[in-house]
Amino acid sequence: MPELPEVETVRRGLSALVQGYRIDQALDLHPRAVKPESIAPLADLAGAKITGLNRRGKFLWFELNRPYVLVAHLGMSGQFLINQKDRPGAKHVRAQFNLRRGLRSRELIFNDQRTFGWLSIEETAQGIPTSARHIAPDPFDSNFDKGAAIKSYAKRNIRIKTALLNQEIMSGVGNIYADEALWRAKVHPETSTADLSTKKIARVIDCATEVMSEAIAQGGTSFDDLYINVNGESGFFEQSLSAYGQTDEPCPRCGTPIKRIVFGARSSHFCPRCQR
Ligand SMILES: [Zn+2]
Repeated sequence: MPELPEVETVRRGLSALVQGYRIDQALDLHPRAVKPESIAPLADLAGAKITGLNRRGKFLWFELNRPYVLVAHLGMSGQFLINQKDRPGAKHVRAQFNLRRGLRSRELIFNDQRTFGWLSIEETAQGIPTSARHIAPDPFDSNFDKGAAIKSYAKRNIRIKTALLNQEIMSGVGNIYADEALWRAKVHPETSTADLSTKKIARVIDCATEVMSEAIAQGGTSFDDLYINVNGESGFFEQSLSAYGQTDEPCPRCGTPIKRIVFGARSSHFCPRCQR
């Protein structure tokens, strides 16, 4: 499932490729492509100019010269692709945007095999679209308040792994980067937030930020071939994973086999020696 680094990679790719383009036509090609809460059908986007691409956590949105934005959530397998003549067409096209800038035209495709991704036209308040309003700022956001996040984690009594996945405290971290951050910080995923010092919680936040910046620099992680950027390319961060998906592989720090446990309906990977 795409997490912050993958969504940020897509945002950067889209910024370079579609910003400044006008939407000639927007085609809704699947009954679940557009959220029922969307304030308008995709067809209403005709004539709108894309003025920027923004993101909070895993929510991505196209800013337009309109009083609304086009929000996109990639879900499990959503992809934005630019149709290229020398490549085979996408197989699970859910929406298509015919874009134009002067004499240049581009077809932007929203492809989504598992259909958990969605698009939605929404109003914004303080620059944030309706569906992302409950999401806390991510650590790369200028509005992110690290002190407040530390306090918010510390006052709960839940497993640190579960807390990291809670998008209302700090957003952007999913299963992959939570496991990686906890491995770096040497914290067992089942440790209660109430038992962690504020210094240790700060360390976990710093490690999450660090691992996600490294992943952004490598174009994200391609876990099951479903994540690709707008150029149809995969990220390389899976080569750098220390814990996530590394069951029985030696811990890069101490050589102890990485262990996998399941709680909260998710698997967690950790080093039983470094993360006690
Ligand atoms: Zn270890």
